[in-house]
Amino acid sequence: MSQSAPKGLRLHIGLFGRRNVGKSSLLNAITCQQVAIVSNVAGTTTDPVEKPMELLPLGPVLFIDTAGVDDVGALGEMRIARTRAVFDRTDLGIIVTAGGEWGGFEAELLAALTAREIPVLVVMNKTDQARAPEALATELALKKIPLVHTVAVTGEGIGELKRRIVEQAPTDFLASPAIVSDLVGPGEMAVLVVPIDKEAPKGRLILPQVQTIRDLLDHDALCLVVKERELRQALAQLKTPPRLVVTDSQAFLKVAADVPPEVALTSFSILFSRCKGDLLTQVEGALAIDRLQPGDRVLMAEACAHHPIGEDIGRVKIPRWLTQYVGGPLAFTHVQGHDFPADLHEYQLVIQCGSCMLNRREVLGRIVRCREAGVAVTNYGLAISYSLGIFARALSPFPAALELLRSLGQGTPGGQ
Ligand code: SF4
Repeated sequence: MSQSAPKGLRLHIGLFGRRNVGKSSLLNAITCQQVAIVSNVAGTTTDPVEKPMELLPLGPVLFIDTAGVDDVGALGEMRIARTRAVFDRTDLGIIVTAGGEWGGFEAELLAALTAREIPVLVVMNKTDQARAPEALATELALKKIPLVHTVAVTGEGIGELKRRIVEQAPTDFLASPAIVSDLVGPGEMAVLVVPIDKEAPKGRLILPQVQTIRDLLDHDALCLVVKERELRQALAQLKTPPRLVVTDSQAFLKVAADVPPEVALTSFSILFSRCKGDLLTQVEGALAIDRLQPGDRVLMAEACAHHPIGEDIGRVKIPRWLTQYVGGPLAFTHVQGHDFPADLHEYQLVIQCGSCMLNRREVLGRIVRCREAGVAVTNYGLAISYSLGIFARALSPFPAALELLRSLGQGTPGGQ
């Protein structure tokens, strides 16, 4: 993958530690660039600084250089809150300390990361001044947590640190479910339906479409991309039916009418529910639409910040379809990017977009938080297909999801 791989596909590596232990210098040494503000005044780094880079053989990673979490005072509290939010999107944590220091603060960081089951390694920086105490080295060895000695400003130990990062890369990052390539074999055909309307960005396709095409090409599948208006004509020209049709969720109804019932059909955002999150939980979450009452609160979470244009899917279309389904007005709240409310109790339903811009850990973290708060969580494509009455059809490529519906006594809700 190239340096311009989307952020959501990168392993997210968080650098944590006290002020002035050399986190920024370490980041500069690893990336061989000046990427963060560095000074010997404690607390110079205020906001998390993100630096994408290529780390072979892992591929694309994103380093997140955090503010010192031991900051004091009002501004310091803001920095600490932002740093803790970085935990939510961290695939691998690096605790940086220096001069042989290891106290309750580092122990707390280690406990917080391991409690979240985030793989972690410890860097003792500035070892030209002092190395890690023997007791610490022994304790970390017992816990199987790697300890690396570095002098960031001279580059000493940086090679070993890179190797350790590769070793510690979490397996779930490496084994993310495929986008689509397990559903369409080599030589088989997928038809992708991409409406080009005024909400479509000028001159390009959006990321979930591009990533789906790339996954098909990488796995030697055939790929035909059409607008919804030409779909019927395209299908008629194929000698054999396609293995799968994937549509933009907004065109679900028309596409479902044009695709023969024996051909599997789903949407880009349902593919991404599986690859970025947890399809079965979000399928179950869609069933909560039936329990919604007028006046209930629904949180719409969109992982990229764009200006809503015209009939925006999150602001206009989904609210309209859900309101029609429920038979009365609902109260919608919208959040974008990494924003996600700390308290979810006031919501009856959370609807997450396909999340192509987020990493899987962040989406899974949101799902866990919804579960903890007892709030149903689903995603755009699932909510749309449910409210339009084509839920089972939209899940036809996923036997486990259909089995789940049967086990919940749902038969084929929204089936055709
Ligand atoms: S709205 Fe969500 S799925 Fe769509 S492009 Fe943005 S991040 Fe990706």
